[in-house]
Amino acid sequence: MALDLKKYIASIPDYPEPGIIFRDISPLMADGEAYREATDQIVKFARDKQVDMIVGPEARGFIVGCPVAYELGVGFAPARKKGKLPRATVKATYDLEYGQSALYLHKDAIKPGQKVLVTDDLLATGGTISATIQLVEELGGIVVGTAFLVELKDLHGSDKLKGYDKLSLMEF
Ligand code: 5GP
Repeated sequence: MALDLKKYIASIPDYPEPGIIFRDISPLMADGEAYREATDQIVKFARDKQVDMIVGPEARGFIVGCPVAYELGVGFAPARKKGKLPRATVKATYDLEYGQSALYLHKDAIKPGQKVLVTDDLLATGGTISATIQLVEELGGIVVGTAFLVELKDLHGSDKLKGYDKLSLMEF
């Protein structure tokens, strides 16, 4: 029987600031069976999409995307914060509550026409995943799916993902 993955998400009130409930995925990653179950569910979602590459944003997008890439036998490209990638990059900015942030992807990370699965641990407002999608599409990649462990429904990130196939393993 499938595990109840929600049991492996710790909810931390007032972190990182008052009024926010932080959903901590580290208990899920710390449990071999739960981590494998989550990975297997994403692999199942991706299996028939002929995925060529997986792209995930720093840093928890790597934790979700890399084992899926290994299982599918495809590559993984990291979308990273400023100053972390050593070669020529493309850049996408996105809004934070106060100010802006940016993500970067190596220009040769995706070849035009490649089918890409985009992964992250959690979908909140959708800003991070939209920037990641923008980077992939700027390089000519086709986003065939987006996959998350957790979706925070109240923040309506899925509104930014209209037209993209989405898998969220858990909703809060
Ligand atoms: P968004 O850009 O959708 O507003 O926020 C999602 C991004 O912020 C993800 O990359 C995620 O790692 C991080 N994030 C925001 N809130 C949480 C949270 O409660 N738990 C975790 N694990 N990550 C969060």
